[in-house]
Amino acid sequence: MSMAQRSDAVHVRAPGKINVYLAVGGRHDDGYHALATVFQAVSLYEDVYASPAHDFSLTVSGDVDPGTVPLDDRNLAMRAARLVAQTAGVTEGVELHIRKSVPVAGGMGGGSADAAAALVACDALWGTELGASVLHDLAARLGADVPFALHGGTAVGTGRGERLTPALAPGRFDWVLVTSEKGLSTPEMYAGLDELRARVGALADDPPLSLDVPIAVLQALRAGDPLALAPSMINDLEQAAVRERPSLDLLLAEGVQAGALTGIVSGSGPTVAFLCAGPEAAAAVQEELIAAGHRALHVHGAVPGARIIG
Ligand code: ATP
Repeated sequence: MSMAQRSDAVHVRAPGKINVYLAVGGRHDDGYHALATVFQAVSLYEDVYASPAHDFSLTVSGDVDPGTVPLDDRNLAMRAARLVAQTAGVTEGVELHIRKSVPVAGGMGGGSADAAAALVACDALWGTELGASVLHDLAARLGADVPFALHGGTAVGTGRGERLTPALAPGRFDWVLVTSEKGLSTPEMYAGLDELRARVGALADDPPLSLDVPIAVLQALRAGDPLALAPSMINDLEQAAVRERPSLDLLLAEGVQAGALTGIVSGSGPTVAFLCAGPEAAAAVQEELIAAGHRALHVHGAVPGARIIG
């Protein structure tokens, strides 16, 4: 393994994502659900700093509740660092620092972004030059959403969410995100959806184990047309998130009343993403939601995946 270029400290930035579309099918025998989803990387970033050290350590800063982010090997960034070391035969450690901006357990893949950033940062720090394809494989081993955080942009995820295909989406999409202080658990939202469906007998006979993203979604993305995209945005997990957090229903209506084209719970929630017609419309929606007491952020997509800064 070439250890050609070593660095003193590396700063990598990786984006959070929203699910523009998320259809959940039946559950496979391994417990994972069949998915068809469209991810878009947005301009809300995690910053990961990697410095040389003998051991592995991790600190976290930013707008996070202490205790919500594990600082040991349960942390996806730490696992990413160890995986790079193990794969490349590196015997030293790393001091990782994560500056979080993506809400924890917010349905925006913050942990996955940290993992993708840590992969890139450690590869650069140790000069291991693993290359894009190995980094992609390591990302897939860390979690279904990690490869997307590595690549960024807009992409379709199928299978269990891990089969990733880049989608053509050249235009800019303006989103207003309303974040919540308290997160929601992804496994609990899937279990909640199963329960809701069992109650009404949906999917009982023939749960689809292979799903596709509707052509209308892909066409709207390709055209860079938020007006066409808005009516085709769907998230099957939304009903589970709303049942757990009924205030989300009101919030979805509030954003549309404030001028958004539509609103959707991102992933397993509770972050809500409002699609707006353009930057000015988004600024107005953001202002109105802030005035109503919400934490609202204006972001845009699509942005690139994990990148070394400076
Ligand atoms: P998912 O990617 O499963 O949709 P999410 O985006 O809703 O999750 P994350 O912030 O990624 O939420 O984290 C979910 C849980 O994973 C947290 O509650 C935390 O216990 C654990 N976790 C592991 N590593 C990290 C990390 N680097 N940052 C935040 N949480 C992490």
